[in-house]
Amino acid sequence: MKPAPFDYHRPQTVPDALVLLNRFGDEAKLLAGGQSLVPMLNLRVARSPHLIDINDLSEIEAIGISPDTIEIGSLARHHRLATDPRIAEACPILSAAAATIGHYAIRQRGTLGGSLSHADPAAQLPLIATLLNASIRIGNHAGDRDVAARDFFVSSLITALDPSDMVTAVRFPTLAPSCGWGLEIFSQRHGDFAIVSAAATLQLAADGTVARVALALGGVATTPISMDAITAGFAGHLPEAAWCADVGAAVGASITPEDDSRIPATYRKELAGTLTARALMTAAQRARRTSP
Ligand SMILES: Cc1cc2nc3c(=O)[nH]c(=O)nc-3n(C[C@H](O)[C@H](O)[C@H](O)COP(=O)(O)OP(=O)(O)OC[C@H]3O[C@@H](n4cnc5c(N)ncnc54)[C@H](O)[C@@H]3O)c2cc1C
Repeated sequence: MKPAPFDYHRPQTVPDALVLLNRFGDEAKLLAGGQSLVPMLNLRVARSPHLIDINDLSEIEAIGISPDTIEIGSLARHHRLATDPRIAEACPILSAAAATIGHYAIRQRGTLGGSLSHADPAAQLPLIATLLNASIRIGNHAGDRDVAARDFFVSSLITALDPSDMVTAVRFPTLAPSCGWGLEIFSQRHGDFAIVSAAATLQLAADGTVARVALALGGVATTPISMDAITAGFAGHLPEAAWCADVGAAVGASITPEDDSRIPATYRKELAGTLTARALMTAAQRARRTSP
């Protein structure tokens, strides 16, 4: 298992990296944590005559937190997302999701930007970016732009990135302390990619009914998908077990996953409904504990 030969570049600044990307275009790949790219190169399912290693770009490692937003440099590792107490306080569902990625060694190397750019439809960080509709900052030698997560993921392993683009930062909204959240990840073995995952946030009104609910699912389509159009119709009720089950049933009925060699579509639909109900139960419990 050895990759095809490539030229190795190690720029020291983001502008230098963008110049290289622009020069080599389709012939180049960025190397961040290498946790997805290196196995693909080794197996020769990906080939790239030029590898641009971005690990010296300390300018895209920073984490900045304001009352409304957490801005995280794309080179921040999963382990840091999982363990930074400021993220745990400002957006706990993001920390919780990062902590479940693969195994410790993978979390030490894998990066936020790499995970979003790789765009595995079952991956945790694309799921949370979709749930919260994070804003993805894309650097290009011709200028930067911001893309909403819900427009960024195009299909399985395909994003809105052009060959000369690099994700430089991601802005997630912070969660109000009274906002409950739930995250359910079902995989065959510990550390495996999820078969289906469900992530929810839930805010209660003063009378204990649901004021706002957001939900996203992973592993049921070619990208993570927001279920907000469905869940919005369920606001205004007390988030009891029956309500959670009803939302879960509506969500399960609304999706059309495909059969694959391991998992029949009907199994994924049922699982999506069950995980949705569980994620909402947990979100409601958390919201009740912290609501004023
Ligand atoms: C055994 C194993 C189990 C895993 N389990 C899980 C799991 O359960 N859940 C999960 O979510 N992930 C899992 N992963 C994947 C892991 O999260 C990877 O770290 C992640 O998918 C890619 O991040 P990376 O930084 O390693 O990117 P790389 O592997 O370095 O790059 C991946 C792709 O993104 C591109 N890229 C990298 N950085 C940027 C950037 N800043 N801008 C534009 N393009 C960029 C690269 O060119 C490449 O095409 C697993 C990996 C392994 C090996």
